[in-house]
Amino acid sequence: MSSRSDSPTGSTQVDHLIIGAGFAGLAAAIKLDEAGERDFVVIEKDSDVGGTWHINTYPGAECDVPSQLYSYSFALNPDWSKVYSPQAEILEYIRKVARESGTLDRFVFDTAVVDARWDEQAQRWVVQVEGPEGTREYATRTIVSAAGGLSEPRMPEVEGIESFQGEIFHSARWNHDVDLTGKRIAVIGTGASAVQLVPELQEVAGHLDVYQRTPNWIIPRNERSFTSLEKTAFRRVPGLQRAARSAVYSTLEGRVPAFAKFPDLLKVVEAQGRKNINAAIKDPELRAKVTPDYRAGCKRILISNKWYPALAADNVDLVTDPIVKITGDAVVTADGVERPIDVLVIATGFYVTEPPIAEHVTGRDGRTLADLWDEQGMAAYKGTTINGFPNLFQLVGPNTALGHSSIIFIIESQVKYVVEAAKAMRREGLGAVEPTQAAQDAWTADIRRRMKPTVWQTGGCASWYLDKFGNNTTLWPGQTFAFRQHLSKFDVDKYDVQAVRPTETKEKASA
Ligand code: NAP
Repeated sequence: MSSRSDSPTGSTQVDHLIIGAGFAGLAAAIKLDEAGERDFVVIEKDSDVGGTWHINTYPGAECDVPSQLYSYSFALNPDWSKVYSPQAEILEYIRKVARESGTLDRFVFDTAVVDARWDEQAQRWVVQVEGPEGTREYATRTIVSAAGGLSEPRMPEVEGIESFQGEIFHSARWNHDVDLTGKRIAVIGTGASAVQLVPELQEVAGHLDVYQRTPNWIIPRNERSFTSLEKTAFRRVPGLQRAARSAVYSTLEGRVPAFAKFPDLLKVVEAQGRKNINAAIKDPELRAKVTPDYRAGCKRILISNKWYPALAADNVDLVTDPIVKITGDAVVTADGVERPIDVLVIATGFYVTEPPIAEHVTGRDGRTLADLWDEQGMAAYKGTTINGFPNLFQLVGPNTALGHSSIIFIIESQVKYVVEAAKAMRREGLGAVEPTQAAQDAWTADIRRRMKPTVWQTGGCASWYLDKFGNNTTLWPGQTFAFRQHLSKFDVDKYDVQAVRPTETKEKASA
């Protein structure tokens, strides 16, 4: 394939353009590079690598998947301080892996993809990006979209929210300049982020109101620090850390049958959750408020030793009456109570089933991915490639996220598929590959069938896993090793392919 050059039209020609420099984008860059596919750029809207771990700096931010597994298989880290690492440590890990990979020279920071259009004639994506030096155009053979499902904050649609005069920020856009000591703070949302940040706020706030729409099942966090002896052993004893990683992997995979086929088994988790509640909360009314009425696992099971003690503290009120309005200085609930505040923290999650990057990508028929998915729900062949969008590879695409294990396992599986596809295209002289509609439909139908008995469809809750049609287009409904097996080779027979056009061949010959 061609080497990077500027065409007469002013666009920079590359083989691959990766969107996003989080765990997924970085893995794609490293593995493409290793495979000799070195002509790529990584376009990142923020100022550094790290993705969600770069932007989520709220107090208490930590990972709820053990770090031995929440890390790249090709870059084990013997120095994790704890079983569940804090955000700063994970970010430093990603930075180190990026530095040592030798790929950072192809990363373009502070730059956002604003438009990507498939040019059928040129067999390239024409991509407009906006950065500090204005707009720039790339013409790329493939796009690897690694923009992340948890990147665009979702603000609640509450009357008057724009009129609030105090400090207001989303958990993923934490304003560290605001001194929270002694302040009256409200937090809207009680999901994974809130569960981590509320206990930190409780310690400094004058008063804290936590607005809960739905309680979560929350079980104890079996946290501990690694001793220096363990770290030395991880470093020195061959295979030890990989064995520890495999043990974590197997334990988490062992939970899949309960989520996917036998949700009643999750009653065990509910018992753990009730015990967790009863250990920290004495007030029967508060206990009732925090106890979910749906099957555990239907929403993400959270882990915390600090959440319930924080809610039980004297300076905290858990408010379950729905919010009807926000005024210049207060939150008003349906029972007419007005609670004055200085700071409003929004912890209401992200646009997951309508990923914002899809609005900027226009496929073969002139439709955006957002329009297509808005009409039909998110779907992709093997969670990765999409009919109508040739040479587009979506990392952490539809039905690839996990409720039970490390997303990095999925990312590495997808990246291998992308690399195999790039190799196949080069080997077989293919200018465009696009999954057939039949292959994609069969894949999606199979996912829907397997999704039916899962706790996410039967557990009796509303969750962001489900789209507006009620389909779970977010999670993978099975074992992760099965997903990896499906993506182990690039199955070109399931694709409509086009040979590289003759003009391209000539261009190559003269390059
Ligand atoms: P989330 O899990 O989607 O939680 C959002 C919370 O806001 C829910 O409690 C939701 O209530 C509530 N909410 C949403 N809209 C609302 C409204 N209009 N009024 C009142 N409440 C509203 O978001 P998140 O906590 O930011 O976490 C998102 C995902 O990020 C997690 O599921 C997880 O995958 C990831 N995460 C991971 C970690 C980690 O440790 N690995 C940490 C943080 C986040 P309902 O339940 O009623 O919808």
